[in-house]
Amino acid sequence: MPELRYDGQVVVVTGAGAGLGKQYAKFFGSRGAKVVVNDLGGTFNGEVGNDQRVAAQVADEIKAAGGIAVPDFNNVEQGEKIIETAIGNFGRIDVLINNAGILRDITLKNMTDKDWDLIHAVHLHGAYKTARAAWPHFRKQRYGRIINTSSASGLFGNFGQSNYASAKVALVGFTETLAKEGAKYNIVANVLVPGAASRLTQTVWTPEMMEVMKPDWVVPIVAVLVHSSNRETGAIFEAAAGHFSKIRWERSGGLLLRPDDTMTAGAVLNGWDKIHDFSKPEYGSGIGDSIGTLERAMKLPPSPP
Ligand code: NAD
Repeated sequence: MPELRYDGQVVVVTGAGAGLGKQYAKFFGSRGAKVVVNDLGGTFNGEVGNDQRVAAQVADEIKAAGGIAVPDFNNVEQGEKIIETAIGNFGRIDVLINNAGILRDITLKNMTDKDWDLIHAVHLHGAYKTARAAWPHFRKQRYGRIINTSSASGLFGNFGQSNYASAKVALVGFTETLAKEGAKYNIVANVLVPGAASRLTQTVWTPEMMEVMKPDWVVPIVAVLVHSSNRETGAIFEAAAGHFSKIRWERSGGLLLRPDDTMTAGAVLNGWDKIHDFSKPEYGSGIGDSIGTLERAMKLPPSPP
């Protein structure tokens, strides 16, 4: 297999002081990229943090191995400063991996505004701030690669994680929109749903799971998605324990009722099986697909008298 390389490219990885981000940063540092190792060195719940050794150590490791890296200690909530680090040190940015994350698990009943706001500030607002600041550079050079990190919790929901799940699924809509807005500028944006042993998962998973969920096993798909050869954009990929897959939306064939007084709750109940029938699925990838369904519905003639 060819060795993917990133010579001359500048890669920004947020939250790169530990876990997944550290593995991404070290990989790109070993493949010719100049890496901005961002991490504010905080606690897992975002409560306290400014341990600069976390990012500095990873940058030092990259440099000791012969690579090029610079540490950055900014909070992703000031994402524009992280992009300034890239531009100030290396004069450009080619790849942005929004990876920084915290957890504040708590049921909705006990959730405080702080639990909600802090999670959204780091995961969603942070990704917006870095992407917003990188965007003009990507457009100008007609090249950019973005990964936004979501979670199975965001796609499916998870007990005690309504704050985290909502921020993580918001990143899906955000990324799919960036993919559309960036298409004509060769800006490619995808969503990653990773699984890996880290500080965030150590209290949730068994030791056996932690053993087979190595963070560096997620690296290969990130490497492919941000490579210059990749044209795939606006997609969601899962990677954990050596399993790589793609996730997409699926719409059932559905129930089409005539636009008259036969369109009742009873008719919907009657057609419940059709609403759940996935034997002729559609895989929408834009709001145009939904409009097509609406047009078909509008063209349906009224019921015969
Ligand atoms: P981790 O805790 O090991 O690493 C996250 C890093 O982000 C930490 O070093 C932390 O200091 C840094 N960080 C936190 N807030 C920051 C901020 N405001 N600004 C800059 N840096 C900040 O976690 P991880 O498991 O490697 O998670 C990485 C990403 O993957 C997160 O977005 C997480 O939600 C997501 N994720 C992880 C898993 C998993 O199984 N590990 C599953 C789904 C999603």
